[in-house]
Amino acid sequence: LNYCRILPKVELHAHLSGSISEKTMIKLIKLKTDKNPDWQLSHADWQFHLKAVKGKSLEDVFLIFQLIQEISDSEEAAYVACKDVISEFAADNVKYLELRTTPRCIPKTGMTRRSYIESVLRAISECHSSDLGIEIRLLLAIDRRTSVKDAMEIVELAVEFMMKSGLVVGLDLSGDPTVNDASDFLPVLIKAKSAGLRLALHLAEVPDKAQETLPLLELPPDRLGHGTFLHKGDQSENMVGLVKKHKVPIEICVTSNLITSTVSKVEDLHFQYWYDRKHPVIICTDDKGVFSCSLSEEFALIAEAFKLSEQQLYDLSYDAIDYIFAGDDIKNKLQNEWKVFHSRHS
Ligand code: IMP
Repeated sequence: LNYCRILPKVELHAHLSGSISEKTMIKLIKLKTDKNPDWQLSHADWQFHLKAVKGKSLEDVFLIFQLIQEISDSEEAAYVACKDVISEFAADNVKYLELRTTPRCIPKTGMTRRSYIESVLRAISECHSSDLGIEIRLLLAIDRRTSVKDAMEIVELAVEFMMKSGLVVGLDLSGDPTVNDASDFLPVLIKAKSAGLRLALHLAEVPDKAQETLPLLELPPDRLGHGTFLHKGDQSENMVGLVKKHKVPIEICVTSNLITSTVSKVEDLHFQYWYDRKHPVIICTDDKGVFSCSLSEEFALIAEAFKLSEQQLYDLSYDAIDYIFAGDDIKNKLQNEWKVFHSRHS
């Protein structure tokens, strides 16, 4: 674990609300209670809910997302949450972070999708001006429960903020993988891609999703979230064929897969399948707050289960730089930083 901690890392699959630590959740509860004295959810209730979902199902995890969104429903809360999440990743030696988040509109607190994005970008810009030593970019997320019309609005906002700030670099498609058909968003994603946004899509996260996955793989996406069941079941040959043909890197989130029971032990992860075939894989946390994990620990789990050497861990971390959505200037800067680390620790 010690090597995994000191290793410089890039985190490419982190949902903002899911990454909020328990410490920050308590801060947000206080903020919410100060502003709404009649708001009922006490700290004790909160801890009860949080403990109840640990180690349970995908369904339980989506319940906790709803609870977190309840305490992060204002511009100030979004700003506070984002700053804390970035600082925690920086403390874990993450040098480049791509956060993803679903812009939310909460009429009760006056927060709009636009002001939500602005609050998150303000937090990111302030972190860039501090001495945290971490570069951050943002992906806007489309929740698959949303309408195609609302998804289109998110794409328009993403394009606008990509032009204005340069910090929004892409789009994520996420949300409960058991509801709706992700391929309904095909026209939205085609529009996003042609406007220059990069695509990181959750696909084949649960079994038997070839029907929605195949048309989306034809896009092709720039990266795949989870992809746990690409190589299994009906039409797996076609899915694997497209992923290989387009060399789409796969973001693998170990603890997330274990807690949501999409795999029963680390050794069963699809990591081995793709790693053995020399296909690009990227180790990520997904929701470090909800799953109580860190990127260093995710690397350590992989190292132990698949008997990886320090050199192999370094290569995994270094190779991930190729798949970031920021430009070549940032890639070069990160690669140099990694090489300095390597020369000191080999
Ligand atoms: P937010 O977008 O910042 O609010 O982060 C929380 C949201 O991320 C959840 O409501 C889901 O839509 C999405 N999310 C987090 N983890 C997963 C996952 O493992 N699969 C699919 N969607 C996820």
